[in-house]
Amino acid sequence: MNLRPREISLTLRLLCDSLEKTGVNASAPGRVNLLGEHTDYNDGFVLPTAIPQTTIVHLGFSPDRQHHFYSHELEELVSLTTTDPTPQSFARYLFGCLRVVEQAKYTVPPLNVYVNSSVPIGSGLSSSAALEVAFLRGLRSLFSLDFDDIRIAQLAQQAEIEYAGVQCGIMDQMASSLADTQHLLFLDTRSLDRQLLPFPIGSEILVIDSGIPRTLAESGHNQRRAECEEAARQLGVKALRDIIDITQLETLPELLKKRARHVITENNRVLEAKQGITAARFGDLMNDSHASLRDDYQVSIAGLDRLVSILQSTPDVFGARLTGAGFGGACVALVTEGKAIEIAKTVLESYRKAGYTGRLLVPEPT
Ligand code: ADP
Ligand code: MG
Repeated sequence: MNLRPREISLTLRLLCDSLEKTGVNASAPGRVNLLGEHTDYNDGFVLPTAIPQTTIVHLGFSPDRQHHFYSHELEELVSLTTTDPTPQSFARYLFGCLRVVEQAKYTVPPLNVYVNSSVPIGSGLSSSAALEVAFLRGLRSLFSLDFDDIRIAQLAQQAEIEYAGVQCGIMDQMASSLADTQHLLFLDTRSLDRQLLPFPIGSEILVIDSGIPRTLAESGHNQRRAECEEAARQLGVKALRDIIDITQLETLPELLKKRARHVITENNRVLEAKQGITAARFGDLMNDSHASLRDDYQVSIAGLDRLVSILQSTPDVFGARLTGAGFGGACVALVTEGKAIEIAKTVLESYRKAGYTGRLLVPEPT
């Protein structure tokens, strides 16, 4: 439903009034993945951490028969009845969460929802999962729902797949639901076994946005996913996770061999990192991961390669790689503890001289 500006301000005022009286607040963080890229939809292993930026959702009962969803970042208000079809805008993430909760046999009355977030949108730091997890946490507390954090992540993933139309794995939602900023979250995406691990001694993370929008990400992602499924089918396994040794890939056609080799070597990198290794070794694994994403999985582009190579050649950087689906978005580096801000300045300057405009994402700029 499209509202005129006067109606928007009136609806917003009512929304805020009602939230002050009956509302609850909930929040969830974005995430950055350090190792284990494009492995989650292959039943593999991932190693993300939460970032300091969070999404906060205020929610309460709506006084009329409609849901009212407002995003502070998008300055967008969407009002819809409980029987309306899936909306197109950001509201589909919230709508999807409501639907999956209803499918779990709960009845949700019309709600007012106010979204306020510091998670960068569309940079590969999972603002979508932060939104879903924060909203589901809010629903859990408003209605005393019997969902643990894993169930929240699963419902969030279901909402994103079925209502936002994104064929995602479970990493983003599990990271937003279970990770914190002080640990790495090791996750086996098949069994959902997980473990919070310390960062390598003497290190911290640095995340820089390449400033390049992920325009090809969706089609590239769907194609890679299909290639992985085909490789698994030809190898006679349920998912590429079931292959440990790359010599088993000999029978595959060249392209599928490359895709599968990325997934298998990436899984092995996560398993090595899980053992507890030095920051220098962890950095080497990140550099290898980038090379594999660039050469075998082919999801990097010139700007990301440039940013990563600037990072890799900067003192006090242990290692760096693109993070997220690729084709644009952010790069992550492991750097000497206490040095991230200083490194970011030098790196952004060199990146600018190369003709690109990046920005610091983590540590959170003040
Ligand atoms: P990301 O890597 O940030 O998760 P996605 O494309 O998966 O990128 O999700 C971004 C989408 O999530 C936005 O286009 C918007 O629909 C929704 N979203 C995330 N954060 C917000 C927010 N604060 N307000 C409104 N919508 C949001
Ligand atoms: Mg997302």
